[in-house]
Amino acid sequence: MGGFEVNSYIVHASEGDLIVDAGAEPQKILSRLKKPVTAILITHGHSDHVGALEEVRRETRAPVYMHHEDAQGVGVIGYESLEDGRELDLGGETITVLHTPGHSPGSVTFVMGSDQIVGDLVLPGSVGRTDISGGSWEQIEASIRKVMQLWNGYTQLYTGHGPVLHAMEELETNPYLPLGVL
Ligand SMILES: [Zn+2]
Ligand SMILES: [Zn+2]
Repeated sequence: MGGFEVNSYIVHASEGDLIVDAGAEPQKILSRLKKPVTAILITHGHSDHVGALEEVRRETRAPVYMHHEDAQGVGVIGYESLEDGRELDLGGETITVLHTPGHSPGSVTFVMGSDQIVGDLVLPGSVGRTDISGGSWEQIEASIRKVMQLWNGYTQLYTGHGPVLHAMEELETNPYLPLGVL
Protein backbone atom coordinates (compact mmCIF):
# COMPACT_ATOMS: atom_id res chain seq x y z
CA MET A 1 0.00 0.00 0.00
CA GLY A 2 1.09 3.52 -0.74
CA GLY A 3 4.45 4.95 -1.75
CA PHE A 4 6.33 2.93 0.89
CA GLU A 5 4.78 -0.31 -0.40
CA VAL A 6 3.92 -1.24 3.15
CA ASN A 7 2.07 -4.46 3.85
CA SER A 8 -1.19 -4.77 5.70
CA TYR A 9 -2.32 -8.24 6.68
CA ILE A 10 -5.84 -9.45 7.34
CA VAL A 11 -6.17 -12.60 9.42
CA HIS A 12 -9.49 -14.30 8.69
CA ALA A 13 -9.95 -15.84 12.11
CA SER A 14 -12.90 -18.12 12.83
CA GLU A 15 -14.93 -15.47 14.63
CA GLY A 16 -13.76 -12.24 13.07
CA ASP A 17 -11.12 -10.52 10.97
CA LEU A 18 -7.94 -9.09 12.42
CA ILE A 19 -6.18 -6.25 10.61
CA VAL A 20 -2.43 -5.94 11.14
CA ASP A 21 -1.06 -2.49 10.27
CA ALA A 22 -2.96 0.13 8.32
CA GLY A 23 -0.40 2.22 6.51
CA ALA A 24 -2.20 3.65 3.51
CA GLU A 25 -5.09 3.07 1.10
CA PRO A 26 -7.73 2.36 3.76
CA GLN A 27 -10.37 1.48 1.18
CA LYS A 28 -8.16 -1.27 -0.20
CA ILE A 29 -7.75 -2.73 3.29
CA LEU A 30 -11.46 -2.50 4.02
CA SER A 31 -12.35 -4.11 0.69
CA ARG A 32 -10.58 -7.33 1.69
CA LEU A 33 -12.57 -7.91 4.86
CA LYS A 34 -14.84 -10.94 5.13
CA LYS A 35 -16.15 -10.61 8.66
CA PRO A 36 -16.59 -7.86 11.25
CA VAL A 37 -13.21 -6.74 12.51
CA THR A 38 -12.35 -7.97 16.00
CA ALA A 39 -9.14 -5.96 16.37
CA ILE A 40 -6.58 -3.79 14.64
CA LEU A 41 -3.03 -4.77 15.61
CA ILE A 42 -0.08 -2.45 15.00
CA THR A 43 3.47 -3.81 14.67
CA HIS A 44 5.01 -0.38 15.24
CA GLY A 45 4.19 3.27 15.06
CA HIS A 46 6.03 4.49 11.99
CA SER A 47 3.77 6.59 9.82
CA ASP A 48 4.01 4.18 6.89
CA HIS A 49 2.32 1.56 9.13
CA VAL A 50 -0.31 3.72 10.83
CA GLY A 51 -1.11 6.33 8.17
CA ALA A 52 -4.56 4.87 7.51
CA LEU A 53 -5.22 3.76 11.08
CA GLU A 54 -7.74 6.40 12.07
CA GLU A 55 -9.83 5.92 8.94
CA VAL A 56 -9.79 2.12 9.28
CA ARG A 57 -10.64 2.43 12.98
CA ARG A 58 -13.50 4.80 12.22
CA GLU A 59 -14.95 2.48 9.57
CA THR A 60 -14.59 -0.75 11.57
CA ARG A 61 -15.06 0.58 15.13
CA ALA A 62 -12.56 -2.07 16.19
CA PRO A 63 -10.18 -1.70 19.14
CA VAL A 64 -6.55 -0.88 18.38
CA TYR A 65 -3.71 -2.84 20.01
CA MET A 66 -0.19 -1.43 20.07
CA HIS A 67 2.80 -0.90 22.34
CA HIS A 68 2.62 2.29 24.37
CA GLU A 69 6.14 3.44 23.46
CA ASP A 70 5.20 3.76 19.80
CA ALA A 71 1.65 4.94 20.43
CA GLN A 72 2.99 7.91 22.33
CA GLY A 73 5.54 8.63 19.65
CA VAL A 74 2.98 8.82 16.87
CA GLY A 75 0.14 10.32 18.89
CA VAL A 76 -2.33 7.41 18.83
CA ILE A 77 -4.75 7.58 21.75
CA GLY A 78 -7.42 5.19 22.96
CA TYR A 79 -5.74 1.85 22.43
CA GLU A 80 -5.11 -1.45 24.20
CA SER A 81 -1.54 -1.51 25.44
CA LEU A 82 0.59 -4.51 24.43
CA GLU A 83 3.25 -5.95 26.71
CA ASP A 84 5.87 -8.59 26.13
CA GLY A 85 4.54 -12.10 26.56
CA ARG A 86 0.87 -11.14 26.52
CA GLU A 87 -1.46 -13.71 24.99
CA LEU A 88 -4.35 -12.26 23.03
CA ASP A 89 -7.49 -14.24 22.29
CA LEU A 90 -9.01 -12.46 19.35
CA GLY A 91 -11.64 -13.76 16.98
CA GLY A 92 -10.95 -17.34 18.01
CA GLU A 93 -7.22 -17.00 17.37
CA THR A 94 -4.49 -17.01 20.00
CA ILE A 95 -1.68 -14.55 19.38
CA THR A 96 1.40 -14.15 21.52
CA VAL A 97 2.93 -10.69 21.65
CA LEU A 98 6.69 -10.28 21.83
CA HIS A 99 8.19 -6.87 22.45
CA THR A 100 10.91 -6.63 19.78
CA PRO A 101 12.42 -3.12 19.91
CA GLY A 102 15.36 -1.89 17.86
CA HIS A 103 13.76 -0.56 14.68
CA SER A 104 11.52 1.46 16.99
CA PRO A 105 11.15 1.42 20.79
CA GLY A 106 7.64 -0.03 20.68
CA SER A 107 8.00 -2.60 17.88
CA VAL A 108 6.23 -5.89 18.54
CA THR A 109 6.06 -9.27 16.82
CA PHE A 110 2.80 -11.21 16.68
CA VAL A 111 3.28 -14.97 16.96
CA MET A 112 0.53 -17.21 15.59
CA GLY A 113 1.39 -20.89 15.77
CA SER A 114 4.81 -21.18 14.15
CA ASP A 115 4.29 -18.08 12.01
CA GLN A 116 5.29 -14.57 12.94
CA ILE A 117 4.12 -11.15 11.82
CA VAL A 118 7.35 -9.26 12.35
CA GLY A 119 6.71 -5.76 11.01
CA ASP A 120 10.04 -4.19 10.10
CA LEU A 121 12.10 -6.38 12.46
CA VAL A 122 13.22 -8.67 9.62
CA LEU A 123 12.92 -7.68 5.95
CA PRO A 124 13.75 -9.67 2.81
CA GLY A 125 17.54 -10.06 2.86
CA SER A 126 17.79 -7.36 5.49
CA VAL A 127 16.52 -6.11 8.83
CA GLY A 128 14.77 -2.94 9.90
CA ARG A 129 16.72 0.28 9.87
CA THR A 130 18.28 1.30 13.18
CA ASP A 131 19.95 4.52 12.01
CA ILE A 132 16.78 6.46 12.71
CA SER A 133 15.30 8.18 15.74
CA GLY A 134 14.51 5.55 18.37
CA GLY A 135 16.53 2.88 16.56
CA SER A 136 19.18 0.69 18.21
CA TRP A 137 21.33 -2.01 16.62
CA GLU A 138 21.96 -3.70 19.99
CA GLN A 139 18.25 -3.88 20.63
CA ILE A 140 17.28 -5.16 17.20
CA GLU A 141 19.92 -7.87 17.38
CA ALA A 142 18.56 -9.05 20.73
CA SER A 143 15.01 -8.88 19.38
CA ILE A 144 15.87 -10.93 16.30
CA ARG A 145 17.53 -13.56 18.50
CA LYS A 146 14.36 -13.65 20.56
CA VAL A 147 12.08 -14.39 17.58
CA MET A 148 14.58 -16.76 15.94
CA GLN A 149 14.37 -19.08 18.94
CA LEU A 150 10.80 -19.86 17.88
CA TRP A 151 11.58 -20.57 14.22
CA ASN A 152 11.12 -24.05 12.82
CA GLY A 153 10.96 -25.57 9.34
CA TYR A 154 7.41 -24.35 8.82
CA THR A 155 7.83 -20.80 10.06
CA GLN A 156 6.75 -18.05 7.70
CA LEU A 157 7.63 -14.43 8.36
CA TYR A 158 5.07 -11.79 7.42
CA THR A 159 7.17 -8.68 7.00
CA GLY A 160 6.30 -5.01 6.84
CA HIS A 161 7.56 -4.68 3.29
CA GLY A 162 8.02 -7.25 0.53
CA PRO A 163 6.95 -10.88 0.20
CA VAL A 164 6.22 -13.46 2.88
CA LEU A 165 9.48 -15.18 3.82
CA HIS A 166 10.35 -18.76 4.74
CA ALA A 167 12.35 -18.40 7.93
CA MET A 168 14.77 -21.22 7.03
CA GLU A 169 15.52 -19.68 3.63
CA GLU A 170 16.16 -16.36 5.29
CA LEU A 171 18.44 -18.05 7.79
CA GLU A 172 20.62 -19.25 4.90
CA THR A 173 20.59 -16.09 2.82
CA ASN A 174 20.07 -13.05 5.03
CA PRO A 175 23.50 -11.70 6.04
CA TYR A 176 22.07 -9.46 8.74
CA LEU A 177 20.68 -12.21 10.96
CA PRO A 178 22.77 -12.95 14.05
CA LEU A 179 24.66 -16.24 13.92
CA GLY A 180 24.69 -19.12 16.32
CA VAL A 181 21.09 -19.08 17.44
CA LEU A 182 19.64 -22.30 16.03
ZN1 LIG B 1 9.23 1.10 10.36
ZN1 LIG C 1 7.94 0.04 7.44
